[in-house]
Amino acid sequence: MAILPIRTYGDPVLRQPTGLIADVDGALVRLVEDMFETMYDAPGVGLAANQVGVQRRMFVYDIGDGPGVVINPEIVESDGDWTYYEGCLSIPDLAFDVVRPKRVRLVGVGLDGETLDLEADEVLARCFQHEVDHLDGVLLVQRLDPERRREAKRVLRNRALGNGDAESPVVLAGRSPL
Ligand code: ZN
Repeated sequence: MAILPIRTYGDPVLRQPTGLIADVDGALVRLVEDMFETMYDAPGVGLAANQVGVQRRMFVYDIGDGPGVVINPEIVESDGDWTYYEGCLSIPDLAFDVVRPKRVRLVGVGLDGETLDLEADEVLARCFQHEVDHLDGVLLVQRLDPERRREAKRVLRNRALGNGDAESPVVLAGRSPL
C-alpha cells in the first residue's frame, strides 16, 4: 500500500468528470487499498479517485462506522435540507456551512461486483453527495452562495500566491474533511 499525493484546488483533474469503471480488476483493488491508506493518513472521512489523480468513478469512505467503497455511484433520490460544516481534503484548512439534502439514496457497485443500494442520512448522506460531486468534477466552493464563493476564491488565490490567509473569516479548522 502507498499514501498517494492528494490533488488540491487549482489542479485541473478535480474539474473533470470521471469515467465509468467497466471491470473490477487487480489494479482497481490496489487503488482502493492506496486510497484508504491515503484517506486515513490525511485524515479524512471520504476520498474520490480523482482527488488522487485517477479519472475513474469510484470513492472510498469511513465516517466512523467502518470502511466502504462505491464504484460508479449515482444519487437516485434525495430529500430534506441539512446544514453541515463541510471541509474538503482538496481545499485544506477551509470549511463552510453548506446546505444540501439531508437524506439520499445512492446506488453503485461494490468491490465484490455486487450491486449496492444505500440509504444515508446526515453525515453519511453529506459524504456521499460530496464524493459524487468530486466524481462529477464539482468542488465544494461551487456549492457556496456567490458572496462566499468570491471570498473563498480570494483566500485560495492569496494562498496560491503565498500571501497567507490569516485575515480571512472563512478560514477555520475543518472538521474531518471529505
Ligand atoms: Zn472533497
